[in-house]
Amino acid sequence: MIDYDLEPHTVARFLKQHRAKRVGIQLPAGLRPFWPKIAHTVRKSGSTPLFLKTCYGACDLADLQAKQLGCDVLLHYGHADMGLPTLVPTLYVEARVKRITLGAIGLFAKRVHGSRIGLFTTVQYVEHLPRIVEKLRELGLKPVIGKPGPRTKYRGQVLGCDFSCVKQISKKCEALLYVGTGRFHPLGCAIATRKPVYIANPLTGKLSQIGGLSEFLQSRKAAISKAASGRRFGVIVSTKRGQARYALALQLVEKLITNRRTAELVVLDEVLPEHLADYSFDALVCTACPRIPIDDSPRYEVPLLTPFELSVMLGERPLEDYQMDEIVRTDFGKI
Ligand code: SF4
Repeated sequence: MIDYDLEPHTVARFLKQHRAKRVGIQLPAGLRPFWPKIAHTVRKSGSTPLFLKTCYGACDLADLQAKQLGCDVLLHYGHADMGLPTLVPTLYVEARVKRITLGAIGLFAKRVHGSRIGLFTTVQYVEHLPRIVEKLRELGLKPVIGKPGPRTKYRGQVLGCDFSCVKQISKKCEALLYVGTGRFHPLGCAIATRKPVYIANPLTGKLSQIGGLSEFLQSRKAAISKAASGRRFGVIVSTKRGQARYALALQLVEKLITNRRTAELVVLDEVLPEHLADYSFDALVCTACPRIPIDDSPRYEVPLLTPFELSVMLGERPLEDYQMDEIVRTDFGKI
């Protein structure tokens, strides 16, 4: 089992500071097995824990649910604060991974062409970046780390909806190195920068390189072509505070109508195929989490496009300029 820092002392101090009697707790799926430890910390402080809805990111706060249930505070685990306002005092416990292996870094140094390397990761591994920088320098490379973007808190940190820290440094780098697990973030950075992207898995020590970009673009092109023959479009807006792009969704509806399609807004909390069944839309456009159209498209019977892909469908942009969807601004309060 991965050894996460669940910061029991910080949690205890926060609960004491707010004299919290009832405590809402939000966990991403990967941290659910740690519930006994977390409940123990809360009970030891004389408070009652309530496990609330599972979260996908800091965009997906359960502060309204916490308020409705009379919680004094919310503990949000697994993500860094992205600066959203909250309805109850909220502590972000980032659940950083305590121990990693640098085995993949040596393999990377042997394989990479060029010396200037853009380094990026997720919040779970940010505190290990200085050690990785040192190791890369020892191996004769010149690591570069970008500043935080509009939704990230730390240098070198990316989210599936914010690749800014990589985009700002990519021009001066010959290759990019992602320290982490999973493929979405490095794939997004490869698409966003068109640079070679390597993955150093900090848990297994394995090194891999992102490939399959042309297959990815082909599959998105197929979805765009299929959507182009559709007449009836659903434009999805999320009610999650950090995903709600209502103004953008309205613009997309108007654009579709101008282009002789029928289009309506569909407002959802969870974007799931079953919540969109029976509307008989020919295609969907998602303004919620940018990962949804990319990760979940196979689960939908109709094409599910990003806002950029819609602009390709309408002939405003060429497919060759393909960009991953990113969230710069949300419209909390307008729904
Ligand atoms: S919008 Fe999606 S990618 Fe961005 S933080 Fe939320 S869950 Fe993650």
